[in-house]
Amino acid sequence: MIRARAGARLTARARRHLAPPLARLSTHAEDAEYVAAPQPVSALLEEEEMMREAAARFAASEVAPHVRSMDEAGVMRPEIVAGLFEHGFMGVEVDEAYGGAGSTFTSTLLVVEELARVDPAVSVMLDIHSTVVNNTFSMWGSADLKERWLPRLSTDTLGAFCLSETSSGSDAFALRTTARRDGDDYLLNGEKMWISNSAEAGVFVVFANADPSAGHRGITAFVVPRGAAGLEIGKKEDKLGIRASSTCPLRLTDVRVPAADVLGEVGQGYKYAINILNEGRIGIGAQMVGLARGALDGTLPYLHEREQFGTRIADFQGVQHQVAQAATELEAARLLVYNAARLKESGRPFIKEAAMAKLYASQTAERVASKCVELLGGVGFTKDFGVEKFYRDAKIGQIYEGTSNIQLNTIAKMISADYGR
Ligand SMILES: Cc1cc2nc3c(=O)[nH]c(=O)nc-3n(C[C@H](O)[C@H](O)[C@H](O)COP(=O)(O)OP(=O)(O)OC[C@H]3O[C@@H](n4cnc5c(N)ncnc54)[C@H](O)[C@@H]3O)c2cc1C
Repeated sequence: MIRARAGARLTARARRHLAPPLARLSTHAEDAEYVAAPQPVSALLEEEEMMREAAARFAASEVAPHVRSMDEAGVMRPEIVAGLFEHGFMGVEVDEAYGGAGSTFTSTLLVVEELARVDPAVSVMLDIHSTVVNNTFSMWGSADLKERWLPRLSTDTLGAFCLSETSSGSDAFALRTTARRDGDDYLLNGEKMWISNSAEAGVFVVFANADPSAGHRGITAFVVPRGAAGLEIGKKEDKLGIRASSTCPLRLTDVRVPAADVLGEVGQGYKYAINILNEGRIGIGAQMVGLARGALDGTLPYLHEREQFGTRIADFQGVQHQVAQAATELEAARLLVYNAARLKESGRPFIKEAAMAKLYASQTAERVASKCVELLGGVGFTKDFGVEKFYRDAKIGQIYEGTSNIQLNTIAKMISADYGR
């Protein structure tokens, strides 16, 4: 571990959630919760390690007891959203001047990973809020927008990012929502689809085209508060996985947005969306790494207890090889995610690495969760172990923030660029 440059900057509340040292190896089932703690795969700053431990403790004490009921009801407990704000996890990277912790991108990813190990639905709520919404404000918001929104986004207001529409998913810039100038304001009209956090969000970053004749060069990002006249939030989707994370359509009918609430410059929204989703993909990679860890942690103790043919399941070499394969793929996925994060933090190119991290981590999560269900036998197929939930939750990693095919397109394009035409 590297010592923090400016000392650990965790909030007092986050400090209270610091876990005791967890990285103790054991092969006994009763010690499984200690086995679960990962060895560092790259050097973490002291403040990052503290953030990870605080998030792990919060996930265990505040989230774990409610995972199954939230999944069954398809509802996020307001207490969990409030707790994440209260403990300082919702503004990890936000500048301290705006009430955030001013920590690193990696710190945010560690929180995402630790939450996903317990509930990927809670994890993605924080991930989209932090890596996509907060960072859009931080990077392109005017001084006024930052002052008005970042303190709230750090302390009590959840954000949503509204790009997709019914007819524009992978082809995101074919969006049809329009923004017509009307005096000092814009009037937004259109429909958005699949918007995460929309049931709970207090602010929406909405992409609309202010000049359809200019094609994607008319796309502009607008800040729309919840309660804006003409903004309707539709019925929650009933989903396969991450069921507690809300996903709703939005309808915008003459939603009036002052020109001062344009995020960045008019016509630059497509660039902001591309940039922020490149970063966001590393966050989804971290979510998938946490998910795979959660699946393994939920499986290994049982394998060390249950006997068949007079032998512990974990002692069959066929099983050991499958566990070793899963653990190796998980480690590789973590390395891809952490490396992409460090590349981004150091200002170096990271787009290809971010796409690889999301692609591979989501494939790994699905494979590992599937194998875990299988290794648990019949009980793996029931809700009691919670591992079937990880299996269901894993699939979304291959769909949102760019499907696996879209990640492959990006990786292929960058390889071709490296090697010439
Ligand atoms: C639970 C959930 C939460 C979401 N949250 C948000 C959110 O908060 N904000 C937001 O804006 N959006 C959100 N989305 C939308 C998400 O980003 C899109 O669903 C995703 O980008 C895919 O778009 P689509 O569903 O329209 O699929 P399509 O684009 O129709 O793709 C269908 C299939 O075609 C393939 N395909 C498409 N184009 C190509 C190509 N060029 N080459 C090869 N294959 C291709 C895809 O890989 C996919 O397999 C969310 C979606 C879900 C399900």
